[in-house]
Amino acid sequence: MVDFWQRASFFPLLVLLASLLLWAVFGALAGALFFALLMLMGLLSHLRRLAELEHWCVASDSTRVPDSGGLWEEVFSRLNKMVRKQHEDKEKHAAALQQIEQATAALPEGVAILDAADHVEWCNPLAEQHFGLDGVRDVGQQITYMARQPEFVRYLTLANYTEPLILRGTRQDDMVLSVKVVPYGVNKKLLISRDITHLERIETMRRDFVANVSHELRTPLTVVNGFVETLQDMPKLDNDMSRRALQLMGEQTRRMEGLVDDLLTLSRLENSLNTLVEEEVDVPPLLQSLYQDGMVLSDGKHTLRLELESSARLHGNAAELRSAFGNLLSNAVRYTPQGGEIVMRWSVPESGLPIYSVSDSGIGIAPEHIPRLTERFYRVDRSRSRETGGTGLGLAIVKHIANRHQAHLEVVSEEGKGSTFSIVFPAKRSLV
Ligand code: ADP
Repeated sequence: MVDFWQRASFFPLLVLLASLLLWAVFGALAGALFFALLMLMGLLSHLRRLAELEHWCVASDSTRVPDSGGLWEEVFSRLNKMVRKQHEDKEKHAAALQQIEQATAALPEGVAILDAADHVEWCNPLAEQHFGLDGVRDVGQQITYMARQPEFVRYLTLANYTEPLILRGTRQDDMVLSVKVVPYGVNKKLLISRDITHLERIETMRRDFVANVSHELRTPLTVVNGFVETLQDMPKLDNDMSRRALQLMGEQTRRMEGLVDDLLTLSRLENSLNTLVEEEVDVPPLLQSLYQDGMVLSDGKHTLRLELESSARLHGNAAELRSAFGNLLSNAVRYTPQGGEIVMRWSVPESGLPIYSVSDSGIGIAPEHIPRLTERFYRVDRSRSRETGGTGLGLAIVKHIANRHQAHLEVVSEEGKGSTFSIVFPAKRSLV
């Protein structure tokens, strides 16, 4: 700064000195005229440089700052450096942006950025394909103008993005997408879409295969079981070994029949075309009837109690609810040793969420098994499940039925002490 003032004052001081000299030799007028003339020239020179600077600022494509001399030289040289640095930075940013664009274009998923009001800010080529967008034309458009499926609109409106949305028929009728929204920054959203048409096809094939095999097995099993029962009833069966063999054959065919029935039930529940037929279900009488079934199943070995804390009815499917409620009760009976206590409870606590629960004082479940109980064929104790006629599919069926009613299954258990299995329904299903 000091350096600047030194250089800036050099010219005026020189002119002043020369003017004073002229004043001394030729008089005051000559000195003043000389001073004014040179100062005017200095001013004109500054104005010219200023004009050059302005011209450079206005010319948008100029990358090089004009050459200059004197005081302005340093200013121009610094400006020159700044502009060059700015250009280099710009080129670096452009290269980085291009790389990001190339990377997102290569992503196997569609990605779109939405603002707070779901307007498209940017999207990659796969998102263009999935939602029928045009990455240039549709910027600023609301995404729901392009993807109008009611379930997609609802998904965005409800803003509950914990689970991905399975979306069918976005563009081509047979395309199935898994769509997920990830909120970020201030009210921004990342819309990620994945084409799962192929996976869905495989899943449908698997389901159809299981359903067909189960269906095909049903008739031969019924025939074999029928013959086994007939043979068992034959009076002339005096050989102990034959009797034992027939008894085992009978048990195993009945087990297989149970398995086939459960597999068919699961297939039916999994079939997306099989929508839930809803009705008003009077839960208390349903539980009374299940309680009677439980008494028969327990055969006097347990103390069974039914606690009806609410008379609420439920909006749902009676047959499916009966199957789910019955499954939990039969598990409690099967996994509770003789003398144990089992309590069936129906309540609507203050939260307003209707709950059906079955508590038992049975063998309980170690914590590491609990998250896997609803997997098909997952059993904590394989032999106990078999001995008591289990198929390993009961809780998978319960989970499916719960899901179809937007309910969820909760398990609280302690090994050696007992378990409580609860189905918690959404408040909107309760009909008081
Ligand atoms: P399963 O036909 O084998 O009973 P489920 O799907 O109904 O099949 O149950 C899965 C597993 O969860 C069972 O094999 C058993 O180990 C465990 N289980 C279910 N209910 C209970 C319960 N009330 N007490 C203890 N263990 C249970």
